[in-house]
Amino acid sequence: MVTATRPKQQVKIGPTQLLINNEWVESATGRRFETINPATGEVICDVAEADAPDVDKAVQAARNAFNGEWRKMSARRRGELLYKLADLIEQNKEELAQLETLDNGKPLAESLTIDLPFVIQCYRYYAGWADKIQGKTIPINGPYFCYTRHEPIGVVGQIIPWNFPLLMQAWKLGPALAAGNTVVLKTAEQTPLSALRVGELMIEAGFPPGVVNILSGYGPTAGAAIANHMDVDKLAFTGSTEVGHLVMEAAAKSNLKRITLELGGKSPNIVFADADMDAAIAGAHNALFFNQGQCCNAGSRLFVEEKCYDDFVAKSVERAKQRTVGDPFDSNTKQGPQVDQAQFDKVMSYIEAGQREGAHMLCGGDRVGDRGFFIQPTVFADVDNTMKIAQEEIFGPVMSIIKFKDIDEVIHLANTTMYGLAAGVWTKDITKAHAIANNVRAGTVWVNCYHVFDTAAPFGGFKQSGMGRELGEYALEHYTEVKTVTIQL
Ligand code: ADP
Repeated sequence: MVTATRPKQQVKIGPTQLLINNEWVESATGRRFETINPATGEVICDVAEADAPDVDKAVQAARNAFNGEWRKMSARRRGELLYKLADLIEQNKEELAQLETLDNGKPLAESLTIDLPFVIQCYRYYAGWADKIQGKTIPINGPYFCYTRHEPIGVVGQIIPWNFPLLMQAWKLGPALAAGNTVVLKTAEQTPLSALRVGELMIEAGFPPGVVNILSGYGPTAGAAIANHMDVDKLAFTGSTEVGHLVMEAAAKSNLKRITLELGGKSPNIVFADADMDAAIAGAHNALFFNQGQCCNAGSRLFVEEKCYDDFVAKSVERAKQRTVGDPFDSNTKQGPQVDQAQFDKVMSYIEAGQREGAHMLCGGDRVGDRGFFIQPTVFADVDNTMKIAQEEIFGPVMSIIKFKDIDEVIHLANTTMYGLAAGVWTKDITKAHAIANNVRAGTVWVNCYHVFDTAAPFGGFKQSGMGRELGEYALEHYTEVKTVTIQL
């Protein structure tokens, strides 16, 4: 088991200050904080720490840009800038992938072949939308000409998490900029580096000052200042359900800013005995363990039909034991470290809870190595849907396998959760597949596949997994205001 990681000097570190009005600045307090390499626990570097005064400054810059050059720029030109940004990211994709892996811990092979291509596609997709956002003409009664304009909302605050830093930045900036908004984006404190490097590329692409401002900083300070700000017109947040409640309350108590939330999940992944078993075992493994288990849509409640349960569990345990954990820069590595000490501790506490509550831990359960935040792929069988490990989001490499008897029972169990982000079903029977797709309350349902994302397909949650949709045409609705114009003829 290798946990040594490449010396940090070999990865080029980009800017470490705040990006406000296309200038790199220190924070008003002068404070900086450390960002840690999760593979070693060592400090990579420190970055400027934004707080409320920096948020004020960034919002002012975004407001000025919104009232100025950006508003006057043609939609097509906005699209060209986004295309240019995508090209620049593509030209620098190795460097960005390395930075992402260094700061987040995800395997470099995945940063390069999953995150970066999807980031580039996302900017290109929304570049294409910029000049296609259009209203309607409406045949109202009387001698009037009535039409709608889909206008940008204004200054958008965006708060992103650490599990896919570049991708979450792209999901947020793409639609916001295509629709003509200006942005103050706060990165997660665990992973500030790659977003700042993208900020540098945005300046190079030619985005005017103030259109995108990027702040590194903590949630309760800089994040809360954005959520409470009276001059932020809309807030887009991705993170925990707990913080989702806080930012929604802040939006309500301040200026009723529009809000979209992409929150936690505890997604059911349902395997029927008639499924292609090899595909289901491989799919369920990936559904849970991908990205160190740090996906809001992870298939973290794995329901397996009684008839094939024992065999499925045995094969899943074998597969988990074979997963290579180690240096994320090593091309053989499938699983890197958890992002930080806090996440490591949280995952370990859920492993303890699972054992305490009587689930059977069939492999894993320990840390790997003696430095960094590596955890063994862990599988629990005989999990009951009421247990903590089946109800709370673990966000780590811990698989919980639950037995079910029939379709009615599994639909009921799948829906017995406060979350509703995603679901998966594995079966050769189209009737069962449709029954699950129609009756499980989740924003995305995958049939005989999992984690299939596309920039054009909307993603978001039912229930406490959030509100609004990201990606695709649907995301644009959340970045525009509809204006009705009526003219007497
Ligand atoms: P996690 O528990 O996975 O780290 P969080 O919801 O705590 O998820 O964090 C997601 C993002 O929300 C991060 O950018 C974080 O800094 C930010 N955040 C945390 N607390 C607050 C808060 N009180 N107000 C606004 N943003 C916050």
